[in-house]
Amino acid sequence: MTNNDTLQRFLFDNTDIRGEITTLSASYQDLLANQNYPPQVALLFGEFLAAASLLSTTLKNSGMITIQARGDGPISTVMAECTQGNKLRGIVRGDFDNIKDISSLKELLGSAILAITIEPEGKERYQGVVPLDGENLSQCLEFYFYQSEQLPTKIKLSSNAESASGMLIQQLPSSIDAEKSADDWQNISVLFETLSSTEQLELSHNDQLYRLFHEQELRLFEPQSLCFSCSCSRQRTESALISLGHDEVVDMSVTQGLIMITCEFCSQEYRFTSRDISELFDPPHPPVH
Ligand SMILES: [Zn+2]
Repeated sequence: MTNNDTLQRFLFDNTDIRGEITTLSASYQDLLANQNYPPQVALLFGEFLAAASLLSTTLKNSGMITIQARGDGPISTVMAECTQGNKLRGIVRGDFDNIKDISSLKELLGSAILAITIEPEGKERYQGVVPLDGENLSQCLEFYFYQSEQLPTKIKLSSNAESASGMLIQQLPSSIDAEKSADDWQNISVLFETLSSTEQLELSHNDQLYRLFHEQELRLFEPQSLCFSCSCSRQRTESALISLGHDEVVDMSVTQGLIMITCEFCSQEYRFTSRDISELFDPPHPPVH
């Protein structure tokens, strides 16, 4: 495998169809290393991460996309974020002791919704919500694209203990004749459907695309690197404490002595002494000249 931790776009020449292919390996392992997920939870998380990476290309400029499922099953939340600069982070929350041998999306999340949030930097955020009632995440995302953007889209996601991979094809609003456009989509979709999970996880991007589309004129663009990167910082943690309010934070500081906040995404610890806390709410005044 030569495409670890990269995302690549592709285009079919003389059609209105675009595509993307992604493989996460070290980035996926780095995200799992901070957590203690049962195997089937890790696999589902891998699919969410691969999907977030595929959907990040809908951001034209800088910003972030978040895919989040919330349900009433043993898993209460799965969340994966990817920035336009291909920085990934995510989390799964739930009662992992109650998971045992269940592994389907429905069993893991119960009755659930899937929210896709697009936050372009400096612009208003947009959120689309669909029921999470497909067989798998790919189906739910295809339904999201059908409903929110009216763009025919096909997605395949696969994961194992080592890596997570995804491929997407999408028909853009047609500028060529509608009949040819429908034929192109039909032909390319049929080929796309033959992609197996093993191929996704074992073949390079080039080999996957050649296997499916060697009779099409396809242009594959340069790979973009993906990595795990958390956006937490001491400054953000301070803002979160300030938003809790002076009295609550001072109470915490009195009962706990030292306030320790651990980032749930990356396990980074932020420590605040009672002196830090008082300075947070009453910053020292700059000397007056
Ligand atoms: Zn963090």
